[in-house]
Amino acid sequence: MIEILLNDKAYEQDIRELLMAFYPGETFSYEPVSGSDFSVEGMVDSARTHFNLKIISHKRVDFPALPADLGEEIESEMEQADEPVEVHYENRTETKSRIKKRLYALLVLRTGRLLPWGTLTGIRPVKIVMTKLEEGMTEEEIAAYMKETYYTSRAKIALAVKTAVHEKELLKQLDYENGYSLYIGIPFCPTTCLYCSFTSFPISQWKGRTGLYLEALYHEMRSVAQSMKGKNLDSVYFGGGTPTSLEARELDWLLEKLESTFDLSGIKELTVEAGRPDSITREKLSVLKKHGVTRISVNPQTMNQGTLDLIGRRHTVDMVKECFAMAREEGFDNINMDLIVGLPEERLEDVHNTMEEIRRLGPDSVTVHSLAIKRAARLNTMKEVYKDLRITGTQEMIDMTARYAADMGMEPYYLYRQKNMAGNFENVGYAKPGKACLYNILIMEEQQTIAACGAGSTTKVLYRGENRIERAENVKDVEQYISRIDEMIERKRKLL
Ligand code: SF4
Repeated sequence: MIEILLNDKAYEQDIRELLMAFYPGETFSYEPVSGSDFSVEGMVDSARTHFNLKIISHKRVDFPALPADLGEEIESEMEQADEPVEVHYENRTETKSRIKKRLYALLVLRTGRLLPWGTLTGIRPVKIVMTKLEEGMTEEEIAAYMKETYYTSRAKIALAVKTAVHEKELLKQLDYENGYSLYIGIPFCPTTCLYCSFTSFPISQWKGRTGLYLEALYHEMRSVAQSMKGKNLDSVYFGGGTPTSLEARELDWLLEKLESTFDLSGIKELTVEAGRPDSITREKLSVLKKHGVTRISVNPQTMNQGTLDLIGRRHTVDMVKECFAMAREEGFDNINMDLIVGLPEERLEDVHNTMEEIRRLGPDSVTVHSLAIKRAARLNTMKEVYKDLRITGTQEMIDMTARYAADMGMEPYYLYRQKNMAGNFENVGYAKPGKACLYNILIMEEQQTIAACGAGSTTKVLYRGENRIERAENVKDVEQYISRIDEMIERKRKLL
């Protein structure tokens, strides 16, 4: 337990997020409690020009040795650790940055650890780089800015800059003013994975009743198409859940409805998450191909059977290979594979084995996630049952996946972070030239309106000139979605 004791709450969230990055899974108290490990005290003076930030230990601590490569910026911050931070409350961004830098230095002193992303706790580090590129900064200037402002490591700066440059190039082809993307959510999966926090229900619970969902979804799609008349549809993404949990004839029906409802003549990509190999059949793949699906995902997450069994995937490594081969035979030339680093009980050699197998298959893109344990996931809700599992994501593992991606001729093209990630790392999409997924960039960079249909989906309307986004969220529960569809359609109709 860590106490956060502040006389002004303006920067409480920033302080808490940085503490969470150093101490994942830790609990916090906003008043003194017995048994806490230490307190972070932050007092702004009455003139609001100085912020006095201290860490007070309540238990014995052995301060560890510091990393050799701290960097001048952090060393200089450490030297001032006993003095209050000079702040300008009227400038929130600058004040936040100063407070976080000081707290970061204090936490490095205490833990002996540097964080790869430094003080950056937001989920879109590439957005910062993009903004700076648009302001006309050179790559070198951006690197210096990120090092100085966030203490980000050289490797992560290079990754963020490379990704942003690539993204910028890919987004050039889009019409921001008049274009939009469409997301369609299918909230069913064969079974629920241990770490799942998405809107997903075992399809067996809906046996014989999926038609009710599809009718409601079609109703919503028609309304969205009506609202977006005159706009250009750039990309379509079927996600979930696992869309291929549906029967082949249902997929056929849904894709036919998509074609008859929307003008697809200008779309640059049509992705369907085929996700779980235990949901894929040749018949379904051929339906997808028939309807012009350009990109699919076959997601193993790991190529280690023991881990697959442990995380509740109920499919084999061989099934992944068979599905992949089948998809190639059906003519898919853009296949993505999702992987997770930091899965329970996996060591470096397991990640190595996964990457070797993936290289042998030769997908067109891979998306490497770091395990994030969200509140809703079984791994979290049933903590007691799973408490003995060893969950370690390491920089070495991440670096290995990056090396394999480069070996396979892929470049990073999108990147995002999540709260509660194992090791406070990032998720990175790598793709071969011409195989990147525009939708993945758009959802992260928030550069375009995304109209979303289906349970648990979120529509985001972008007001470019005003730099503002408005959202409309659909309910997650499928029964509720069906019974309240008119209400959701109406809300979205007003927004769009
Ligand atoms: S396949 Fe994805 S959406 Fe389905 S249960 Fe697993 S993590 Fe959740």
